[in-house]
Amino acid sequence: MSKKVRVRFAPSPTGPLHIGGVRTALFNYLFAKKHGGDFVLRIEDTDQNRYVEGAEDYIIKSLDWCGMSFDEGPGKNEKFGPYRQSERKHLYKQYADDLIANGKAYYAFDTSDQLDAERKGHEAEGKTFIYNWHNRAKGRLVNSLVLTEAETKAKIEAGEDYVIRFKSPQDETLHLTDIIRGNMTIDTNVLDDKILFKSDGMPTYHLANIVDDHLMEITHVIRGEEWLPSLALHQLLYDAFGWDAPEFAHLPLILKPTGKGKLSKRDGDKMGFPVFPLEYTAPDGTVSRGYKEDGYFPEAVVNFLAFLGWNPGTEQEIFSLEQLVADFDLARVNKAGARFDPDKTKWFNHHYMQQQLDLDLAEQFKASQPELAEMDVNYIALAVGLIKERATFVSDFWDLSHFFFTAPTSYDEKASKKALKEDTADIMNSVIERVNATDDFTVENLQTNIKGWITDNEISFGKVMMPLRLALVGALQGPDVFDIMYMIGKTETVKRIENLIKHI
Ligand code: GLU
Repeated sequence: MSKKVRVRFAPSPTGPLHIGGVRTALFNYLFAKKHGGDFVLRIEDTDQNRYVEGAEDYIIKSLDWCGMSFDEGPGKNEKFGPYRQSERKHLYKQYADDLIANGKAYYAFDTSDQLDAERKGHEAEGKTFIYNWHNRAKGRLVNSLVLTEAETKAKIEAGEDYVIRFKSPQDETLHLTDIIRGNMTIDTNVLDDKILFKSDGMPTYHLANIVDDHLMEITHVIRGEEWLPSLALHQLLYDAFGWDAPEFAHLPLILKPTGKGKLSKRDGDKMGFPVFPLEYTAPDGTVSRGYKEDGYFPEAVVNFLAFLGWNPGTEQEIFSLEQLVADFDLARVNKAGARFDPDKTKWFNHHYMQQQLDLDLAEQFKASQPELAEMDVNYIALAVGLIKERATFVSDFWDLSHFFFTAPTSYDEKASKKALKEDTADIMNSVIERVNATDDFTVENLQTNIKGWITDNEISFGKVMMPLRLALVGALQGPDVFDIMYMIGKTETVKRIENLIKHI
């Protein structure tokens, strides 16, 4: 590769960025960083009817949260700026005019009523209406290919609405190349004459996208499979302008957890997992869940997104962003759709949870749990260290660790039946003696004293440990009993065992 690699993530600010969009951004980011290139953010806001306030901000915050900072974009290193297409509006018309001048595009004045009538007429005959060589010059459609130059000019001067359409070639076979899909051929006769420039004075996606990729010196276009049908037109546009086209890579679809059909924005709510990186409040007030607010670590989200369509070719599943940059290769991206697996996402989160510092987790836990407001964060961190192995989210912590902070107020019924026997009170009184006799109150000493006493007296282990756990936790759950005793201290341990004895 001789030219410096430059890729762009080009979302339209029509709402929150969903997880598929974040995956596209990630693959662009990885490819750029892998090749020492630039990752550009361009906001494609030419469709003003679909513009949603706040969407751009949401996109930038999402990229930030994932750790994928862009090298150039709105407000940052604006070498090729502006990076919002609405601010580049003045640029596009001249390119549409150039295409008209060299016969690659034409003016069309058909009203939507006329086009509707054409469509219906075709349907009545069992045909589909395509605006292209089939009918563009037959005289039923009103365009500069059938009108004289003077008629065309008169219409424009009279202020009639017009669009500029691309004149797609007849009877040609196009050869297209995609890094992921290989070579493809397309018969140009199936293409319609796409609108490049609209009557509102704005370019369409197709024109703006090609002009900007060219002006911004983009070398690789990495985007979702839904844009594959546009590739032929885009290639034709590059040829029509006489520009070198970038290389293309169309990423596979992300499928529903069932493997059937494309994952949609509504699937998250239906199936109980987020499809957005950050929580999103729509202009009408509806709130959609986000990975961040649901307690996912960005490392986990990045890791699972990387595997939606890519794999390293080895058994390794855990990849940091840096490792992904080192190992990522478009040649290892699949064509087939990638099934979205919410359980796997949790598995990644559990993994990254274990990598976090206990103190950091403790800060988050403390901030989220009112009961912990007055607690020493170092003590919370010790508790977290003992239970995080069983947790996937910080929100799991309280259920797994409340007994480090508050004494049980009740005892689980099933556990009580199992743990409490006739001799339990006597045994627990003996345990209190052992606890009191443990001067240097360490886990090891408690273990030696109590276990030693159990062995010496040939008592069954369960007869001691089960009620002891019940006394401390209120249920037959939790980490090692000796760890719990050590954490809550001698006085509290004795108090909790006494409470159980009273309860019996
Ligand atoms: N604006 C398009 C989108 O919203 C970008 C497609 C492309 O990358 O060319 O997905």
